Amino acid sequence: MSSSAASPISVRNPRTGEADYEITPPTATELHALTVRLRENQRAWGTAPMEHRVEVLSQWADQLEKSATSVIEAESVDMGHAPLAQMSPLFVVMLVRRWCERAESAMDELMREGQSELMPNIEYSTQLVPYPLVGVIGPWNGPLGLSILDAIPALFAGCAVVVKPSEVTPRFVEPLMATIAEVPELAGVLQYVVGDGRTGQAIVEEVDAVCFTGSVRNGRKVAEACARRLIPVFLELGGKDPVIITASADVEMAATAVLRGSVFNTGQGCSSAERIYVHENLHDAFVERLVTMAQEVRLNHPDPQEGNLSPFIFEPQAAIVDAHIDDALAKGATLRSGGRSERLGGGLYMLPVVLTDVTHDMEIMRHETFGPIMPIMRFRDDEEALRLANDTEFGLSASVIAGTAEEAKALARHLDAGEIAIQDVCLTMIGVFDGGSDSFGCSGLGGVRGGSAGIHRFVRRKAFLTNTAEPSPLAAGF
Ligand code: NAP
Repeated sequence: MSSSAASPISVRNPRTGEADYEITPPTATELHALTVRLRENQRAWGTAPMEHRVEVLSQWADQLEKSATSVIEAESVDMGHAPLAQMSPLFVVMLVRRWCERAESAMDELMREGQSELMPNIEYSTQLVPYPLVGVIGPWNGPLGLSILDAIPALFAGCAVVVKPSEVTPRFVEPLMATIAEVPELAGVLQYVVGDGRTGQAIVEEVDAVCFTGSVRNGRKVAEACARRLIPVFLELGGKDPVIITASADVEMAATAVLRGSVFNTGQGCSSAERIYVHENLHDAFVERLVTMAQEVRLNHPDPQEGNLSPFIFEPQAAIVDAHIDDALAKGATLRSGGRSERLGGGLYMLPVVLTDVTHDMEIMRHETFGPIMPIMRFRDDEEALRLANDTEFGLSASVIAGTAEEAKALARHLDAGEIAIQDVCLTMIGVFDGGSDSFGCSGLGGVRGGSAGIHRFVRRKAFLTNTAEPSPLAAGF
């Protein structure tokens, strides 16, 4: 990262393909000055009573609610008018208000007070000390939501926060910062900076704890950098989520759930379904129904208000998805619906792809594809279904659909993934505040985002040990 002039970065509009926006990252000196300022302001923020932080953050939630349209408009442009953009500011408002109710009791869970069992004259008590400055680095597939999700509990815990969203989708930062500026005390401890991976790297070198959401490849780099600095890092990384559909499942329900869970947001979701395993007795009927449904899906081109699927947000992603499909077809898969990405008016779009006769030798069953794809494999029995579903380096989330929820849950107990949708697909983040989950495999590290555990990550516990009697003299052999 340069210490003098920073070069502007142009931002592509995913619908037109044109670079019609520009961001200028801070220089190293500017970023450092910002972190110094945030640290200074954090001293008062971190020692203020929780009611004060609740008051300030609740003012901001009101402000964001009032200005939601401007944030939605900006984020919609970067996301090619994906429906997710329509919801994200209101999701953030809901989250802040939930934390307003819960932050104090969650922090109280960490407080301890008592006497030593061994030496009752020693009393102990706790002080919670927030990490002064937390860095949050976000991905392009959920620009606002995934850049603020960890920042909110960190702020309630008393930390200052610097956030860097992806350079691919930064337009929401301007309107969002305008809402933050309306609450000056919050602006003193919450700042967004724009820039690419180099700005992300520079942030990691400046802060006391890092929350990173993104790819496994960059997550590893961030974890290594944090390990060198011996600071905590919380990683939310990629996935290759499986769906298991048993012989007793309802075909209509299974096809409906798989279609939505695989192609929502054009499949650009960490917890999108990317591998479908269907019992051999149900396989053909399921494929037939899914293909019919997939063929009814429309692109949201040319009218963004119509159709279901928006363009790829990140241009190079379309080539990755195409390459996975080519690899599968070259190795014997059968294309049952859809094709490849297509360029329409400068944007890159893709209709849902249904593939059968896939195997685990194919890229599409091994690596994150991040597109609207449904590769389907048949299985003979539960044991085979579980072996295939668990045959992955990832372990973010998964889904099971069976005749009953009990049957689905019995299978789900053996799946190596943090969050399992039962009788549906991809239920991640559907308004479950306390249902926090850990990631398995290389899908993440560092603990739970939701509920009390989500805020506990941002404080260290200091123990006071008070001797209420005379200090013991030095004893022989002690
Ligand atoms: P990415 O390429 O890893 O980038 C994530 C963020 O890290 C971006 O802001 C990026 O900046 C920045 N960055 C890149 N290199 C860095 C470095 N060395 N040090 C610090 N920061 C660095 O991921 P993405 O392509 O944006 O997002 C898609 C990935 O995120 C997928 O794998 C998806 O599964 C995963 N994801 C996971 C979750 C979850 O909760 N588990 C949620 C959503 C997405 P630039 O983009 O500006 O280069």
